[in-house]
Amino acid sequence: MKKLSQCKLTLLLLTLIALMLVGVVGCTPVEEPGLPTDGPEPDPTTSEPKPDPEPSTDPGTSDPYPYLILVNADNPLPVELEPELKTVQGNFKLEKTAADALLAMMADAKKEGIDLLVVSAYRPYETQERLYNNKVQEFIQKGYSEEDAAIEAAARVARPGTSEHSTGLAADIVTPSYQRLDRGFAETEAAKWMAANAHKYGFILRYPDDKQEITGIIFEPWHFRYVGVEHATIMTELNLCLEEYLAH
Ligand SMILES: [Zn+2]
Repeated sequence: MKKLSQCKLTLLLLTLIALMLVGVVGCTPVEEPGLPTDGPEPDPTTSEPKPDPEPSTDPGTSDPYPYLILVNADNPLPVELEPELKTVQGNFKLEKTAADALLAMMADAKKEGIDLLVVSAYRPYETQERLYNNKVQEFIQKGYSEEDAAIEAAARVARPGTSEHSTGLAADIVTPSYQRLDRGFAETEAAKWMAANAHKYGFILRYPDDKQEITGIIFEPWHFRYVGVEHATIMTELNLCLEEYLAH
């Protein structure tokens, strides 16, 4: 009798334990789905979810591309920006409207005997991230602390999300006879022609010599940014860089 009740008690306990286990399992919170593994710095101003990963067949209904977007060290690019690309030269691509504008610009330059050579255009976020991380590693291997390596790297390669090239709206353009990205390029016929005419195609010289303090970037006579003809014309005529133009 005593033995039996002990047995019953054990059974009861086992049942209870089993029930508890089921309960516990049932209450285990489901693992959060889709945690970003390579996400960007969180940007509270651009946290709106982007709805359409499906290819849009009707361009009339999709949102216009943000041609005036400001991307710099203080304004990192939202990672989800995915331009529809078109080839401009060789393997270099730009967002399609910017690409058409650049193709027209290059064709017109050619008519005036100016050869324009694209040496950099769209850089996906991941490419920029890889370039930046490689540079950090380079400095760590030279004996820098992680913190110092990051500072040294950022002075040479834009931090991921802070390069205009990831928008698909910026291109580095030189000429076959002068391909170095340095101040000397500004003295070439190609650079002079672009400085005088790029706005007619919707491009601005993004980092002018007299705006370094505002842009935070050295004079880059080869780096052109598409903003559309209307905006580019105003900026060029009033001598405003993008930061100044957007602040007005
Ligand atoms: Zn550039």
